[in-house]
Amino acid sequence: MDPTAIISIESAHTSGVYPKRPVAIVRGQGARVWDAEGNEYVDCVGGQGAANLGHAHPAIVAAVTQQAAQLISCPEIFHNDRRAELLAALAQAAPAGLQRAFLCNSGAEAVEAAIKFAWLSTGRRQIVACQRGFHGRTLGALSATWEPKYREPFEPLVPGFRHVPYNDVDALEQAVDDQTAAVLLEVVQGEGGVRPGDPAFLLAAQRLCRERGALLIVDEVQTGYGRTGRLFACQHYGLEPDLMPIAKSMAGGLPMGACLIGPRVGELAKLTHGSTFGGNPLACAAALATLHVMAAEDLPGRAARLGAWLLERLRAIRSPLIREVRGLGLLVGIELKVKVTPILQRLQARGVLALPAGAAVLRLLPPLVIEQEDLERVAQAIEAELGRGTSNE
Ligand SMILES: *Cc1c(COP(=O)(O)O)cnc(C)c1O
Repeated sequence: MDPTAIISIESAHTSGVYPKRPVAIVRGQGARVWDAEGNEYVDCVGGQGAANLGHAHPAIVAAVTQQAAQLISCPEIFHNDRRAELLAALAQAAPAGLQRAFLCNSGAEAVEAAIKFAWLSTGRRQIVACQRGFHGRTLGALSATWEPKYREPFEPLVPGFRHVPYNDVDALEQAVDDQTAAVLLEVVQGEGGVRPGDPAFLLAAQRLCRERGALLIVDEVQTGYGRTGRLFACQHYGLEPDLMPIAKSMAGGLPMGACLIGPRVGELAKLTHGSTFGGNPLACAAALATLHVMAAEDLPGRAARLGAWLLERLRAIRSPLIREVRGLGLLVGIELKVKVTPILQRLQARGVLALPAGAAVLRLLPPLVIEQEDLERVAQAIEAELGRGTSNE
């Protein structure tokens, strides 16, 4: 299909809520994608964090093809072989104690589940979240999300949410009390500007939750599955979340989410939550294959190695436009002194797709299978755009 037709049909019939780039991506392989005109790109959007295994990974293609021919639909009123295998594999791979999971279809849904389970389990209604935190767009998850631009059109949202400054232990100390159902945070704030959490802050959150009868919800929707150099980012610091929403990369790019559940969460009564597509065998097959590939190819180790190299490579770029380069593993942000959108457009013209994280942070979320020479290509493109020191000509 001709690119102009694709773009004009989408523009006529899509909801309008997405600011779309005028390019039609039609094929992917590994860390590269191609547009409808045949132009090749190094993909540092990576499905916004869904494509950690890269595009068209043969293990995912095989698992999905096989399962599609066997059984796609099987709601959780029944048991299912693929789902059983996935739940066992998840329990095995997860941080200590997270032995149960509620399966769903997206990150926001996984966060919704965590909020409902925290309410049910504690009988409390207050949630302490963080400034610059991002947890999704449904009304509960949006109530936990900080960005005023996303929230304001929908206020008043769900009552009981408040936001403390990220990495501020004193503020957290004051906010968590005997009405707090849960503290909800990210280990590295992704959407909020690629801001790594201070280990002292993360551990203080865990301690305060334990002391004051609240649950710790660690949102690993973006950091999950190898992105930061460990399978889960909380494993860097020995955090033991009580509830852990995951999604983006858990099923090799297929839509899937899960809320992992630890031992401090009480029994969840029948019919207090549910999802028609949750735990469907097709997504379970993809998710199971994803866990196998993560381990077999040691993708967390690869993210740690390549991420450390990339941070150093980017920090060596001399540019008056760069304020800071930061990240963990292959979750990398470059904070600029200028708006990021024109830079993203110019990188795209150089064959590099990247993301923003707020108005002035350039975010790189490459598939973890990316080759170092592709990352070098990305670094060179960024150097060419930012290194010369002029902004918008
Ligand atoms: C993307 C994201 C979500 C929302 O996931 P969706 O699948 O888009 O609903 C929630 N939390 C974090 C940390 C995310 O990065």
